[in-house]
Amino acid sequence: MPVCLYCQHGNPPGETECRQCGMPLPALAGRAGERRQRRFMWFCVGLTIFCVIMFFWLPRSTG
Ligand SMILES: [Zn+2]
Repeated sequence: MPVCLYCQHGNPPGETECRQCGMPLPALAGRAGERRQRRFMWFCVGLTIFCVIMFFWLPRSTG
């Protein structure tokens, strides 16, 4: 049963917000952070692929 970090009020499972103070519960916050982390990872992968393509595609300077 998720306990609110702000008011320590115990909430029923499956609840996304505290019933007493309305703040988001830690279980949901953790899931949202995980999703954001995964999106950031895919951003890094995409950026790496973009850099590799640019490295081979652009003409190299002989200067
Ligand atoms: Zn609360």
